[in-house]
Amino acid sequence: MSEASSFPATPPQPPSGAAFVDSEANAPGREIYDLVAELYPLCRSITGDGVRETLARLQRIVPLTIHALPSGTAALDWTIPPEWNIRDAWIADRNGRRVVDFRRSNLHVVGYSLPVRRRMSLAELRPHLHTLPGQPDLIPYRTSYYKENWGFCLSQRALDALPEDEYEVCIDATLAPGALVYGEALLRGATDEEILVSCHVCHPSLANDNLSGVAIAAHLAREIGSRPRRYTYRFVFAPGTIGAIAWLSRNAAVLPRIRHGLVLSCLGDAGALTYKRSRRGDSAIDGAATRVLRALGSHRILPFSPDGYDERQYCSPGFDLPVGRLSRSPAGTFPEYHTSADDLSLVAPAHLAASLAACQEIFAELEGERFFVNKSPKGEPQLGRRGLYGALGGEMRRDRLEAAILWVLNLADGRHGLADIAERAGLPAEDVEAAAATLLAHDLIEETAGASRT
Ligand code: ZN
Repeated sequence: MSEASSFPATPPQPPSGAAFVDSEANAPGREIYDLVAELYPLCRSITGDGVRETLARLQRIVPLTIHALPSGTAALDWTIPPEWNIRDAWIADRNGRRVVDFRRSNLHVVGYSLPVRRRMSLAELRPHLHTLPGQPDLIPYRTSYYKENWGFCLSQRALDALPEDEYEVCIDATLAPGALVYGEALLRGATDEEILVSCHVCHPSLANDNLSGVAIAAHLAREIGSRPRRYTYRFVFAPGTIGAIAWLSRNAAVLPRIRHGLVLSCLGDAGALTYKRSRRGDSAIDGAATRVLRALGSHRILPFSPDGYDERQYCSPGFDLPVGRLSRSPAGTFPEYHTSADDLSLVAPAHLAASLAACQEIFAELEGERFFVNKSPKGEPQLGRRGLYGALGGEMRRDRLEAAILWVLNLADGRHGLADIAERAGLPAEDVEAAAATLLAHDLIEETAGASRT
């Protein structure tokens, strides 16, 4: 990266709040926190040297392959934009004093701002200034990726303090043909069935959204890579929206192998763990995540909606992948969201460690889950003939095993694991397992390696 594209932003602040307890149990959280703090000052965007430098640092932890798509490349309905890089930016008063300074916070410049260097009155400048009147001490985070523009972000109080006068305005940036880069790590397992883990790497100095997700994904990859596994895991570190779209456009052959997927975002704050279901709503990862979060205590389960982060792209109707999203406070729901208050004091090692542990438990659950396919799915197979059904028709009491057999036959479509079937049926797991064993012995179902796609 160019030396100048990495300016220190607000100096790192120590974690605050009662949740931070520096115990042995928080050691993984401390490592994740340190990675968040290391990456925090870099000025990232959807393209540019900040993303390259971020991916280069992640390569110390996870074996990332870096992919580059030249500007102008078509990706589904989108086109890879020009590359944006920024060296410096400021607004200076008539004495040359910087009243807004990119070196103090990279949030001060609207992402993808065109270069500008001129003198102008405050009245002329105002349409290019963005503040948060309701949070007058905070700097907003703003971008203009696909509409050519330039601007500055500052606190309302800083704006109110500016006298009506003439100012020198400089944005020393380039918007020129280059590339969009993303990182990908493939951790091969016993089967080629895949679990996709995705996070966005396009935000500048914002800690929870989404350096928490980036750092947890990196540590998760390191941990998963160190032990035997049934699934192949694919980690994608890409800029939001355009990066996921670019990845989808280049990986049509991979998509049929993706059995489960998880988008990681906003995982370092004090909010309760929150799982957002896939578009299908009853994917195996939806069941696994629900069971894990329920066992962990306070949590939220959200239905799918076509907003949020890159689950939108993975769950667009033409792909409809079984991909959910794990967060704490979801994007847009916490007051620090997309402001300078989403800094290192908002995330804490204990929350990061607990989020990592939840991811590990969800994947452990999926690793252990068994999937079957009904070999006779058109009409019920004649169970009585096989001695699997009560001889007396019309009897009210149905044996638990019989009930479990009917549920397994109905939901053994390769997508529902036995734990999901037990939950849906309201039956003990051992009954459903016994039913599956019985049906397997009668050659009425067969096991699949993972949840096959419909
Ligand atoms: Zn965001």
